[in-house]
Amino acid sequence: MIEQPYVYRHTELVEPDWQRLPGWADVSPRDWASAQWQRAHCVKNIRQLRQVVGDGLDERFYADLERDQAERATMSMLVPPQMVNTMVPHLSPAHPGFTDAFYADPVRRYMIPVFTDRREDWPSHPLASRDSLHEAEMWAVEGLTHRYPTKVLAELLPTCPQYCGHCTRMDLVGNPTPVVDKHKFALAREDRLTAMLGYLRNNPGVRDVVVSGGDVANMPWPRLESFVAGLLEIENIRDIRLASKALMGLPQFWLTDEVRAGMERLAKVARERDVSIAIHTHVNTAQSVTPLVAAAAKAMLDTGIRDVRNQGVLLRGTNDKTEQLLDLCFALLDDAKIMPYYFYMCDMIPGSEHWRLSLAEAQKLQHDIMGYLPGFATPRFICDVPYVGKRWVHQVARYDRELGISYWTKNYRTAVESGDELALQREYEYYDPIHLLPEAGQEYWRSRVATPVAVG
Ligand code: SF4
Repeated sequence: MIEQPYVYRHTELVEPDWQRLPGWADVSPRDWASAQWQRAHCVKNIRQLRQVVGDGLDERFYADLERDQAERATMSMLVPPQMVNTMVPHLSPAHPGFTDAFYADPVRRYMIPVFTDRREDWPSHPLASRDSLHEAEMWAVEGLTHRYPTKVLAELLPTCPQYCGHCTRMDLVGNPTPVVDKHKFALAREDRLTAMLGYLRNNPGVRDVVVSGGDVANMPWPRLESFVAGLLEIENIRDIRLASKALMGLPQFWLTDEVRAGMERLAKVARERDVSIAIHTHVNTAQSVTPLVAAAAKAMLDTGIRDVRNQGVLLRGTNDKTEQLLDLCFALLDDAKIMPYYFYMCDMIPGSEHWRLSLAEAQKLQHDIMGYLPGFATPRFICDVPYVGKRWVHQVARYDRELGISYWTKNYRTAVESGDELALQREYEYYDPIHLLPEAGQEYWRSRVATPVAVG
């Protein structure tokens, strides 16, 4: 037997016992399986978290959470019971080590961030920004980002069934927090959706639409189905991807009769028209892949859609170890039939420095997972470079590790560069977290911040 850095073992998926949580001790399997019950019992505030875990968490945790919500959080709290139940899945809150285990839990670390998680020295990178990918600047019509030559992102709605602490669309998605007011769409939803379909009809160069938000699981099903049916009528659209973290966070939604029947209708038309429909979900940890998640993914594949794929986000403390990533990929692949597809580096939004990895760390993780998974299921690690788009982490043109600045090039123009002669010659910058830099690099950033004119 050859010793390897990672040892594969097939692990049976397990639905953690929600009745270990005092607030849900009497919840029946029937209620748990109900999307309506799940939505009605989401944890939205500290009081509700207390009701669920009883006396299981020390007061220091609640104080830490309260301070984060008041001073740092860019997303309000919204965690479906399905996701709460995957935190510390093997421990009852009555266990004396529950608070420490909850602090350390990889799902808790990004869904319920607390003040002491964040960096005190650099909570935010000085060049972090709302809408760090400049999606709104590239809206062809409101909510429709046309960044790449052949594909667009349609932000149908600004809400999700769950709010992730690191959400890259923190500018738009979710409720306002004490530190972030949210952008509001100016147009009514019907007008936006109609304008999006009109734009796509008039732009035959676009063949691929990511239908997103937010999360499409928050769209009333009949409206989502009619929008996708509208896309299927457009001759040039060949790929449709529905973005829903809820396939993991609220699998009960994707298992409802209404949604299954609707997806069957869409898949049938798509097959007749040779169009591919896929669901793209967002799973960051192996413990999130439970039998209900697997059932939802397989139910969707059974409708006849092309694929269910995963786009995770690399987050320190959640999935920054090779073993965690491979465990996740195998959990997705073996029993849930979800294709590992991408792992994004966390974007440069305010308050994200404690989550972000350096480019060098992401490159090493990409290197270290190679060879274990089938090639078709080996995810690519992606840096989403502002004004450039997605680049594999090894496609960097130059990398100054002392200053933590990577330089990237591009091979197409976005709408904002239509008249820019040098767009394809220019190098575009991306930045490592400052706390990881050698002292000389940290000093460089301290002096840049001290001289604001030099920043940005
Ligand atoms: S599900 Fe996606 S859009 Fe919604 S909060 Fe999480 S990362 Fe943001």
